[in-house]
Amino acid sequence: MEKKKIIVIGGSAAGPKAAARARRLDENAEITIIQKSSDLSMASCGYPYYVGGYFDDRNMLLCTPTGVVRDPKYYFNAKNINALIETEVTGINRKEKIVTAVNLISGKEEKLNYDKLIFATGAVPRIPSIPGADLTGISTLQSMKDADFLKQVGKEKKITKAVIIGGGLIGIETCEALELAGIKITVIEMLPQLLTFLDWELAKLVENHVKSKKANVITDNGIAEFLGVDGKLTGVKLENGIELPCELAVIAIGVRPNSTLAKAAGLEIGQNGGIVVNEYMQTSDKDIFAAGDCVESFNIITGKKIHAPFGDLANLQGRIAGENAIIGNKAVCPGTIQTGICKVFDYAAGSTGLSEKAAKLAGFNDIETVINASPDKPGFMKGLLIISKLVADRKTGRILGVQCIGPGDVSKQIAIWAMAIKGKLTVDDMVNADLPYAPPFSLAIDHSIATAHIMQNKLAGLMTGISCREVKEKMNSQEKPYLLDVRDPSEFDQMRLGIGEHLIPLGALRNRLGELPADKDAEIICYCKISLRGYEAARVLNGHGWKNVKVMEGGIMAWFYPREK
Ligand SMILES: Cc1cc2nc3c(=O)[nH]c(=O)nc-3n(C[C@H](O)[C@H](O)[C@H](O)COP(=O)(O)OP(=O)(O)OC[C@H]3O[C@@H](n4cnc5c(N)ncnc54)[C@H](O)[C@@H]3O)c2cc1C
Repeated sequence: MEKKKIIVIGGSAAGPKAAARARRLDENAEITIIQKSSDLSMASCGYPYYVGGYFDDRNMLLCTPTGVVRDPKYYFNAKNINALIETEVTGINRKEKIVTAVNLISGKEEKLNYDKLIFATGAVPRIPSIPGADLTGISTLQSMKDADFLKQVGKEKKITKAVIIGGGLIGIETCEALELAGIKITVIEMLPQLLTFLDWELAKLVENHVKSKKANVITDNGIAEFLGVDGKLTGVKLENGIELPCELAVIAIGVRPNSTLAKAAGLEIGQNGGIVVNEYMQTSDKDIFAAGDCVESFNIITGKKIHAPFGDLANLQGRIAGENAIIGNKAVCPGTIQTGICKVFDYAAGSTGLSEKAAKLAGFNDIETVINASPDKPGFMKGLLIISKLVADRKTGRILGVQCIGPGDVSKQIAIWAMAIKGKLTVDDMVNADLPYAPPFSLAIDHSIATAHIMQNKLAGLMTGISCREVKEKMNSQEKPYLLDVRDPSEFDQMRLGIGEHLIPLGALRNRLGELPADKDAEIICYCKISLRGYEAARVLNGHGWKNVKVMEGGIMAWFYPREK
């Protein structure tokens, strides 16, 4: 029987996964991975932690869970896969089914035949085309080489100031890594907020947290020029003219699909630059598959084509490509809901599905949102705060997206909601979700279920919410609603907004109704630390005839403006 020849271009996440799956399904196939860099199977997502000193052995980024480094020898011995490193594929003859590969050390060119070819060429970082971009001291954090460079920078302790250009996932993780290495960091973000997968109000809380760790954050400002002396970076000039001295700049303004080779081979490329694939991860050539950061993905909720550079997705798509390359088009990739999470010092920030902003952009015009702040487990088990925002379709109750931030177990929340969204569940499905409970792990009603409860209350008209931002705007305007803090005086002494609020503890509220505006149409906004008592106060006031009562969602914990105390 003739052996099937599979060639995989790219040897980091999607490529090796595709090759390994192909091998498991066909012991006889001849499988070759061609990898440009000198390392294989790099855990790119771990680079920030390597740079930040969570561990120092670079091999830990390259090894199996049992500690074996995935080098060509490992691939050959364990998987009978031929892995060519420091070798670049420079051309593809689709008619003859031949790839041209060049060994980057010897310069030797080789032609290899394939029956099925798999593209896993990843993404390349976007670099701003501004003066000074070629100075030394400017890096990205995309490759193992970058990670080694930044690790060395941290070790040498010569650099004192650095700027991170871009406040996305990689920018923020790099910020933490370099801060841990003792470098003073400024993050520069062109948009009004960090982490654009979050809505503004949660992103502002994250920004406060980053600043609390002594990193400087500048939003609404791009970079105009890199400044240097004798070819070395000495600072950056911002679009508003401000100059910041620094010896290191890390560019993290996003990535684009590495599809140049595919384009040159005549494969169809999508509008966002990714290789066009169908649900089988098959390109416009039936014998060529593609997976990972180099492809155009499909958003299950919006039905739109997107670029989704996520490590988990790259692995899943690679598995499908490897399978279909062997057994024909059977395995299906349904698309993505763009679930992601990142570490922000001792906070996490995650999201799944659509933010409010993204939902509106996608044409969901009748949506409801909820912000819920609560500990992730009981106080006696040292519960930590998490703040979630849920977005749902008002008519159908379908869950469209959830974002969550905080020091608590954000990952669990995002995982729960990711499955709910994938399963097309509604708010009503989630209010009785049967989740595991014991105090070390959760509240009796898990934060996710409580979030669904609040949404159900809002959809049923039992609660009218108002955001911190709207409250602040109203208090700054002539409108001045009656702002009611229902916590205890001791809590008020320790922490308060100081914007003209009135303190009436929830326990005393029924006896002190006479202190509230006599006009039953007056706007009253209730809150407490997390607005659970705020909601109860609102129900009391509704029960006594006040009609325009609102709850400030998330309470003081979601208040991202400065407080009096
Ligand atoms: C710092 C950092 C942190 C991240 N954190 C997370 C995270 O926490 N969670 C998450 O989900 N995702 C994260 N990601 C994204 C994730 O790492 C990527 O989505 C994933 O690596 C994509 O895998 P891939 O195989 O498609 O591409 P890549 O990992 O980019 O691999 C592509 C490989 O192909 C090689 N190649 C390209 N062209 C050729 C050629 N012509 N010939 C031979 N070889 C070629 C390249 O050298 C490269 O090694 C992070 C990324 C970075 C950089």
